[in-house]
Amino acid sequence: MSVTAQSVWNNCLVFIKDNIQPQAYKTWFEPIQAVKLTDNALSIQVPSKFFYEWLEEHYVKILKVSLTKELGEKAKLVYIIKMENTYGNKQPFTEKIPSSNRTTMKSQEVDVPLNNKNPELRNPFVIPGIRNVKIESQLNPNYSFENFLEGDSNRLARSAGLAVASKPGGTSFNPLLIFGGVGLGKTHLAHAIGVDIKDKYPEKTVLYISAEKFTQQYIDSVKKNNRNDFIHFYQIIDVLIIDDVQFLSGKTGTQDVFFHIFNHLHQNGKQVILTSDKAPVDMQDIEQRLLSRFKWGLSAELQTPDFETRVSILKNKLYRDGVDMPDDIIEYVAKNIKTNVRELEGAIISLIAQSSFNKKEITIDLARVIVEKFVKNTKREVSIDYIQKVVSDYFQMDVDTLQSKTRKRHIVQARQLAMFFAKKFTKASLASIGSQIGKRDHATVLHACKTVDNLTSTDKQFRKYVDDISKKLSV
Ligand code: ADP
Ligand code: MG
Repeated sequence: MSVTAQSVWNNCLVFIKDNIQPQAYKTWFEPIQAVKLTDNALSIQVPSKFFYEWLEEHYVKILKVSLTKELGEKAKLVYIIKMENTYGNKQPFTEKIPSSNRTTMKSQEVDVPLNNKNPELRNPFVIPGIRNVKIESQLNPNYSFENFLEGDSNRLARSAGLAVASKPGGTSFNPLLIFGGVGLGKTHLAHAIGVDIKDKYPEKTVLYISAEKFTQQYIDSVKKNNRNDFIHFYQIIDVLIIDDVQFLSGKTGTQDVFFHIFNHLHQNGKQVILTSDKAPVDMQDIEQRLLSRFKWGLSAELQTPDFETRVSILKNKLYRDGVDMPDDIIEYVAKNIKTNVRELEGAIISLIAQSSFNKKEITIDLARVIVEKFVKNTKREVSIDYIQKVVSDYFQMDVDTLQSKTRKRHIVQARQLAMFFAKKFTKASLASIGSQIGKRDHATVLHACKTVDNLTSTDKQFRKYVDDISKKLSV
């Protein structure tokens, strides 16, 4: 009975299939081909370097166990990476890589690559001439790792970024997708990775581009009938950084071309870095095949920074700008601006500007005024229900009482205050406010707002109510 590469591999597959998720099996094992068996070394062919890394990273144990069952303790595994041939070269480009030294599989001894000492994969498809074109990276050197302060909120993304920067295309973080809300540092981090790579590998072609600009370029190329040049340009890049990929949603043409560029880069061991304001699962109108590519590598979230991190971001900024500011003011700003680092910085910048233009000392009061401006614009809208609850709590009554038809003065006042705040803090119409607060009409609400305005300027006690409730609604 003859033992062939195929028969050994088939037996391994039976074992593996039994032990992993069907989807994982389909994705990672079905595309593999058994190529050769010499002594106790089985060579398998995988579709990309990434594929090989993924197997090593996630399935090396099961591969080892299954192969040892078939070939004994001395079993070795050799990967052959078959690259897709996109430029019509007749010879497929292959390279062997032995199973990694990290594992206990004794595979180091396997004779490695065809006369290539460098384990790094080279791009076999050199486009004549194009290599000489110098591509400006479009990176902003001010966005560095050094001034991207670390905190719990960004640790994963930051370290993944550092890992990618030290080995672009050589980690499993490919693509690296950085996602998170507005102003949390996605663009900064993306640049920092690029800047660091340029620093460590000056010969690498790095390109930063926003998805919006990419789309524009693509549309232009279609108009000018040079879509192929567009594609070729992107295919020679070593490190491609695309910012705000959520912008591609609904743009099927651009998605399609990006899909091909992505695959090409990926297959050639080039690094792709993406940012998005949403996690892949929440991206809408992005083709499934592209989304699945996004998930191949690592998706790392930037979360809102905690108080300590906000303080250190501010201190670092002030230090770099050479500005001194009392700690209590820094802390006041950090305490009140929570969800957006850009606004945090903006508040500090206006504070400095205000104080230097008006020759005013930086005080907590000035800080309060400025922070309020920043926070007001970004505050989430409070609901009318919430306002009614806050107002009735304040006057120690329940919401039903507040809404009742009674003419008792303190209840009328509470109801009018609720209407006033609903007008002030929500975008609801007078009619809609009225219908939600005790089924009144819009004229009643208008009257309530006027009354509150009048009383605020004439009645000290009433003014205190307004201030107190305002504060409660603002936190
Ligand atoms: P996004 O692209 O997520 O909207 P940006 O990268 O433009 O956000 O960041 C907004 C601002 O906040 C930038 O000025 C950036 O330098 C700053 N920033 C964000 N996170 C940090 C951080 N961890 N350390 C220092 N500055 C930060
Ligand atoms: Mg950005």
